[in-house]
Amino acid sequence: MEHHDILRLAIVGRGRMGREIEARSHDHGLEVVERFDSAHPVGAATVIDFDVAIEFTNPAVVLDNIAALLRLSRPIVVGTTGWHDGLEHVRALVEQHRGRLIYASNFSIGVLTFTKIVREAARLFNDVDGYDAAVHEVHHAGKADAPSGTALAIARVMLERLERKSAILGETAHGRIAADALHVTSQRLGATVGTHSVAFDSEADTIELVHRAKSRAGFAIGALLAARWITEQPPGLYRFEEVF
Ligand code: NAD
Repeated sequence: MEHHDILRLAIVGRGRMGREIEARSHDHGLEVVERFDSAHPVGAATVIDFDVAIEFTNPAVVLDNIAALLRLSRPIVVGTTGWHDGLEHVRALVEQHRGRLIYASNFSIGVLTFTKIVREAARLFNDVDGYDAAVHEVHHAGKADAPSGTALAIARVMLERLERKSAILGETAHGRIAADALHVTSQRLGATVGTHSVAFDSEADTIELVHRAKSRAGFAIGALLAARWITEQPPGLYRFEEVF
């Protein structure tokens, strides 16, 4: 890749996130030179004139987009959620193409820090008897997947630290749930950008930790930082946690 102070960016997916990223790109030293959407998909691209791509689409098309961008030898930032079951397949593709890809369920630095707080809270409650734990998320009515990728990532962090929980229950429970199930519940409400809460509950009290996104700004800024970062890395598959 030639060196440019201003990175030339391709936006893949022109929805809520794609528009937010485009609006903030200039402030972060990136210029949008290409926009892909369902009518103009990456796979049909003929002229390739960008340094890095940011992909926010949906779980049904993300894997095809990743494969197409790897074939074009362009570094990729993937913000789409709901595809992490396919992570090993993507890891193999990245290796095969010697590509560069960074992904996150949540590119907000606030959520990254919140997750560290939750990890520490789970470690503390692991040493205290009598506390149950659960995760709850609220998102806008247009969200495609549930539970949110962020809620699942938070739940996995809790499972690592809380010995009394051994599996995630991401479905609505219609009966009694196993004591070792970590219940992750979802609500879809209007225009909510994204709220994640964690509760630890005993006979005596409840401790709640809440992250409430006020706008999509946090996601967009983190994705733009990741876009510059990934262009400076050797080939590989990276998580957003590795940037900080
Ligand atoms: P959205 O529905 O508003 O936008 C998705 C866009 O993708 C649409 O404009 C659609 O036309 C486009 N699209 C569909 N097929 C395509 C294709 N083949 N090629 C290119 N574009 C195509 O969704 P959104 O709110 O922008 O969210 C997008 C994804 O990002 C979701 O998976 C969401 O969960 C995730 N998300 C992640 C973060 C994060 O920080 N990682 C934050 C917010 C949302």
